[in-house]
Amino acid sequence: MSIRIRRDDCVGCGECVEACPGNLIKLDDEGLARMRRPRDCWGCTSCLKACPAGAVEFYLGADMGGTGATLGFSREGTISHWVVTCPDARRETIDVDSANANKY
Ligand code: SF4
Ligand code: SF4
Repeated sequence: MSIRIRRDDCVGCGECVEACPGNLIKLDDEGLARMRRPRDCWGCTSCLKACPAGAVEFYLGADMGGTGATLGFSREGTISHWVVTCPDARRETIDVDSANANKY
C-alpha cells in the first residue's frame, strides 16, 4: 500500500506530516510533502483526510479497485467525499455524512 502526493497541489501545510501515525511523511527542502518510506505505509488514510488541498491519493489494490486505481478525499461540512479514479479515468464517488455516523 502506498500514497501519492501531487506536488502541484501541495501547499506545504504539514498537516499530513502531523497526521501520519508512522512518521512516514516529511516536508522536503522545497517545503512540500514527500514520503520517507512508501513501502511502510499501511493505508490508514489519515493523511488523505488531513490534507486541506486534496493533494494526497491512495493507491488501491486489485481487489479494491483495480491496479492503478486511486482513492482521493475531500470534505464539505459533515460530508466526506471518497473518489475512486480507475485507470481508464472512470470515477465513482462515495459520500459519507458524519452527522449520520451513529444512526447505524
Ligand atoms: S496512509 Fe496512513 S500510514 Fe500511509 S502515509 Fe498516510 S497517514 Fe501514513
Ligand atoms: S497536508 Fe496536503 S497540502 Fe499539506 S503538506 Fe501534506 S500533502 Fe501538502
